[in-house]
Amino acid sequence: MTTNLKGIGMTSQRTRDRLVRRLRDGGIASEAVLAQIGRIPRHIFVDEALAHRAYEDTALPIGLNQTISQPFIVALMTELLCNVPRRNVLEIGTGCGYQTAVLAGLCEKIWTIERIGELSRRAITRLKLLGIRNYRAKTGDGYAGWSSNAPYDGIIVTAAPPQVPQALLEQLQVGGRLVAPIGSGGGQMLTVIDRTPEGFTEARREPVQFVPMLKGLE
Ligand code: SAH
Repeated sequence: MTTNLKGIGMTSQRTRDRLVRRLRDGGIASEAVLAQIGRIPRHIFVDEALAHRAYEDTALPIGLNQTISQPFIVALMTELLCNVPRRNVLEIGTGCGYQTAVLAGLCEKIWTIERIGELSRRAITRLKLLGIRNYRAKTGDGYAGWSSNAPYDGIIVTAAPPQVPQALLEQLQVGGRLVAPIGSGGGQMLTVIDRTPEGFTEARREPVQFVPMLKGLE
């Protein structure tokens, strides 16, 4: 039994390494981000029936009509957010908690908000299983941000709002960076916003496809 379990663990490390190579070949340059993706077992974040597909570079369903993002996009957004070390990060759209787990190894503290209570509770269970503690999760509407811990030097949004929510811009500190898919329907653009002493700068990176950022709770 022990041998079998060990075998499963090793296989999953090998498939994880293969995913890391794909991401590196695809243009992810940060070794810190790649190492973190190689460390986090993505299969525990998806339904058991789909666990065998966890290391493909593809989005997968996580129940309640939501998806775990494609690993390449998780890696790219993490790389963009963590261009310098971030101490206080706000994440909108906890989903299954995979992006939270990846960030937890790179940032000092993560505050994560999910509008579907059941997903938030499941994510907490998984993060506990991995021994990840430098985060706080709550059920809430990300359009309001999380003002009690602001300002943030990093904000990552993993559902697409039609425009950048005003509260998130207000909660971003000078020197901080926000990474978000902006747009509705098929027209979303991965966008990087930096807050400088002079104001906000915006860079559009590439077209992406996220679930919409919805108002209110479920
Ligand atoms: N970060 C996840 C991806 C989550 S998918 C990962 O690692 O794979 C996007 C998530 O955003 C969904 O779970 C959805 O319920 C949530 N969401 C959508 N609108 C939201 C809002 N206004 N506030 C908080 N979460 C929201």
